[in-house]
Amino acid sequence: MRGFSTNAIHAGQEPDLTTGAVIPPIHPSSTFAQDGVGGLRAGYEYSRSANPTRTALQECLAALEGGRHAVAFGSGMGASDVLLRVLLKPGDHVVIPHDAYGGTFRLVDKVLTQWGVEYTPVDLGDVEALRAAVRPTTRVVWCETPTNPLLGIADIAVLADVARGAGARLVVDNTFASPYLQNPLALGADVVLHSTTKYVGGHSDVVGGVLVTGDDEIAERVRFTQNSVGSVPGPFDAWLTLRGAKTLAVRMERHSDNAERVVELLAGHGAVEKVLYPGLPDHPGHEVAAKQMRRFGGMVSFLVAGGREAALRVCGATEIFTLAESLGGVESLIEHPGAMTHASVAGSALEVPDNLVRLSVGIEDVEDLMDDLRQALDAAGR
Ligand SMILES: *Cc1c(COP(=O)(O)O)cnc(C)c1O
Repeated sequence: MRGFSTNAIHAGQEPDLTTGAVIPPIHPSSTFAQDGVGGLRAGYEYSRSANPTRTALQECLAALEGGRHAVAFGSGMGASDVLLRVLLKPGDHVVIPHDAYGGTFRLVDKVLTQWGVEYTPVDLGDVEALRAAVRPTTRVVWCETPTNPLLGIADIAVLADVARGAGARLVVDNTFASPYLQNPLALGADVVLHSTTKYVGGHSDVVGGVLVTGDDEIAERVRFTQNSVGSVPGPFDAWLTLRGAKTLAVRMERHSDNAERVVELLAGHGAVEKVLYPGLPDHPGHEVAAKQMRRFGGMVSFLVAGGREAALRVCGATEIFTLAESLGGVESLIEHPGAMTHASVAGSALEVPDNLVRLSVGIEDVEDLMDDLRQALDAAGR
């Protein structure tokens, strides 16, 4: 079996048969010529159903997650929507993380409930809480680890056992870890989801999503439903994502290196109340994270001493860390979840502390990142 980076650079990306082009071409064609009715030359008919550039991306991402099938989407939410439609029907129940990605919470809470789906938010770091939440109608356990923005850790292998015992499927949103740091299918998950907008694409220049599974039946139903509802990525988006994925391993190593240094700085700074990072030995999920992840990644959250106002001042005072939502790009970002990414969950079970700041630590020179945070924390403390 080939290594991760060899797959990232070569899987699904053989030189073009007719021209020898080393890089897979972008195929903008919406339709494909047939040799006689039904005589498809390479299996392609119409680009909603399948497109060669998208196929290249899918083969690459399937290899990176160690799944037989990957289906690429126009966004992470497009992937989530199709997967939940495939796995749930009216009357079914889904368990979601108590600090689920806001868009996932909104999809379940505002859209799926209209179709008679029921849900329970659970802290998946607590297996007993999951056992208590599971019902005879539970069909899906939806897991994120590390979670957003609190960086909680769930034990994927244990959740897979509980889900299987309950007759439910375990879905892991692996966006925060990336396929380089964690491979949930090998730990017993049924389906892995990525917002490829984040680490897989890696350059904050394209929105996309993917589902990866080893289950033939789920894959077949996902393809059918995607073709029915139409949430496909365009060929240029598929190509950009594939281009980004080639460097995933080296980027994740650097994200992890930089995050570790940033965590050290934050943990020793008087204006910081608490640092949330699974790489810290005193993080409650540290042991599980060390077991199931290759490294601890580039996402770091922390609580600012002095409450909401001080946290907002830190977010406004950085110069290299750009104040923006999203994550996983080469550039460092800072945000205030309570007022930005998680504003919509205020007052719900998913509410986050109002002195919380989230960093997506980029791959710039780490000394510059540390200087920037130091001056922002000093300024906010004044
Ligand atoms: C961004 C994100 C999503 C949604 O993906 P989009 O590409 O924005 O639709 C889902 N889960 C997590 C953890 C994310 O960070």
